[in-house]
Amino acid sequence: MTNRILLIHTGGTLGMAPLGEPSSLAPGPSLDRILEQVPELRQLADLKLVVAFNQDSSTNEPADILHLARLIRTEAADCEGVVLVHGTDTMAFTASLLGFLLADLGKPVVLTGSQRPLAYVRSDARSNLVDAVTLATKGVAEIGICFGDHWYRGVATDKLSVHRYEAFDTPNLPPLAELGLHVHVHPHAGRFERRVPAGLGQVFETALAVYAPFPGMPWALPPIGTRGVLLHAYGAGNLPMGRPDLQALFCHCRERDLPVVITSQCLWGGVDLETYELGALAAEAGALAGGLHTRWAALAKLGLVLGAGGSIVEVREAFGVSWAGEPV
Ligand code: ASP
Repeated sequence: MTNRILLIHTGGTLGMAPLGEPSSLAPGPSLDRILEQVPELRQLADLKLVVAFNQDSSTNEPADILHLARLIRTEAADCEGVVLVHGTDTMAFTASLLGFLLADLGKPVVLTGSQRPLAYVRSDARSNLVDAVTLATKGVAEIGICFGDHWYRGVATDKLSVHRYEAFDTPNLPPLAELGLHVHVHPHAGRFERRVPAGLGQVFETALAVYAPFPGMPWALPPIGTRGVLLHAYGAGNLPMGRPDLQALFCHCRERDLPVVITSQCLWGGVDLETYELGALAAEAGALAGGLHTRWAALAKLGLVLGAGGSIVEVREAFGVSWAGEPV
């Protein structure tokens, strides 16, 4: 056996068990038990096991993910690849953050999980695990999510379904690999320029205000202490710029040099503030266009840049450049 793969458990449905009556799912047996249930994984690779934590991923904090990034750098030094078992709820955020922080790792990091626990007879857990370990042995330097029949670049992913086995997608990027009868890794996998600025990842700034506008929404000013604002705008980046309370919000942010980044509520396509007059007015008011960044990639970039003490100038630069293969 030559393929040494680091298998890290962080929790999620894959390892969950029913808890009491009525039976809600809660974190259950961790990695050792998982391997008892899927012993065939050892036929695919020489597995090195680490339990980082064992929780519902809705509980994860950015600091947990920064810790994971450091853990992977240390523990994967003698491994060819990494598989990370993770809950689906915040997997796209983790994949985005790790995609940036580990862009230079030079080996595959494959995140996976499942919609139904491994302990259930009818479950997607077993095949997702087997596929993830298989991909981790392929030597393709990508940080991506393996789920259903695909592998997706992490920094471009979002969770799209609560119940379908194909729960993830990268709406603005083709999948990295198809896993069916054969495992077909596409030629673009592993091929992207790595331009992540140095010095990120010690701190993630969470003092961010995120707005998800709806027609008629009152625009409250961000709380005191806010360091950056994310607006999930309509379509190509439109907002009701005629509203005095929204104007007041922009004015508040300009006076304090707070970055205001606009992403789209739509999944396919991105923000282009020149398309409509309202977008152009938002740009004039100081908004930065998030382009094709997913909400998770945008959040990850903003939190990393501000966490490293970056200013509005650095935030603007960050959103104009693809750091790790994310569509911009
Ligand atoms: N709540 C679970 C989690 O994210 C959902 C899942 O894993 O599918 O941890």
